[in-house]
Amino acid sequence: MKTLKCSDVGFDCAAVVTAETVEEVLAQAAAHAQEVHGVAVTAEMAAEIAKKIAG
Ligand SMILES: [Zn+2]
Repeated sequence: MKTLKCSDVGFDCAAVVTAETVEEVLAQAAAHAQEVHGVAVTAEMAAEIAKKIAG
């Protein structure tokens, strides 16, 4: 299981995304960032976020 804490990406946010694969975590994180934080995740941001995914 892959896990990403929203706070690890730099947001003051308690959300945690978990999924089976890195790609799925990134997809969920991008949707979360857009919906909750109003941020569109770019390819560069996704690459940085991918480094922070645990598990
Ligand atoms: Zn968040």
